[in-house]
Amino acid sequence: MKMWAIILVVILGTAVLVSGARSSGREARDQRKTADYLVGQRYSLSGGGYRFSAPRGLAYFVPWDGYACATASGLQYSLVQGIAFLDGYRLPPPDLPRTVNRESIKLPPSPVPDHPVPPTKIKEGNPNRPRVALTFDSDTVREPSAGRLINILIQQDIPATLFICGAWAHANPDYLQIATEAGLEIASHSYWHPWMTRILPEHVVIELTETGRAVQDISGKPIAAYFRPPFGDVNQSLVDLAGSCGFYTIMWTRDTRDWDSATIPEDIIRRATEGIQNGDIILMHTNGIHTLGVLAQVAHILRAKGFELTTVTGVLEP
Ligand SMILES: [Zn+2]
Repeated sequence: MKMWAIILVVILGTAVLVSGARSSGREARDQRKTADYLVGQRYSLSGGGYRFSAPRGLAYFVPWDGYACATASGLQYSLVQGIAFLDGYRLPPPDLPRTVNRESIKLPPSPVPDHPVPPTKIKEGNPNRPRVALTFDSDTVREPSAGRLINILIQQDIPATLFICGAWAHANPDYLQIATEAGLEIASHSYWHPWMTRILPEHVVIELTETGRAVQDISGKPIAAYFRPPFGDVNQSLVDLAGSCGFYTIMWTRDTRDWDSATIPEDIIRRATEGIQNGDIILMHTNGIHTLGVLAQVAHILRAKGFELTTVTGVLEP
């Protein structure tokens, strides 16, 4: 009996050891496969009717302290808004390390902007001048609504700042060219629209510098030195990193919530115009549900109240 018991323990122990080795081997193999798949210089996936090609360096996958993250593909974006956290991995630390900057990360320097700025988070413009800025944040995909929006801005002679994603620039190069030629201000809304405080510092830098590069490559003009964090997701580390990449972090004073299906056209007009104050920065979107329909009216009301419509640069001027 004793011998049987010993043999049983040995067999069971061996089985446990083998299955453990098998499962960690499979995990490593799966991780490797995912990495191979994502780290290709170009890849494309279709999902939700969209197709993306990721430029060099933007399909990233970095195992780091047991955590992995990947940039959006079309499919992943439609599921998780920008960042895919792969099953079984932990989230990164809640705050980015404060010591990193563009130099310490040793990425190729971005051609634009070409110099760091003091880390600065700006919510409103100059309170002493009757000027307000209309700002429009973009998505990452082909957006016919953005083309129509740009036409309205040009036809109605409405200055504005477009915070665009680098992926948007690559998906809508014609709109970007028209907008820059018309003198609309082009600023950064990241490359893939991730939650910026939840990705690695290296990826923050990629998100910032590659959008500047995309705008320079496509339009031939440098991007403005302004960065608006997707989802308004910001912390001091991100403001620091944005500064080291040449961007002031720009928030807003008035949110029209024009992305929300519960928002009716009158809500947008009210949120953009009621109690308007000097230096207000108004947040809208290039694919807002009712934005195009009310834009001319919003501009008319603001001008009738005696405010000059301008860009982020304009509203910050002394
Ligand atoms: Zn956004």
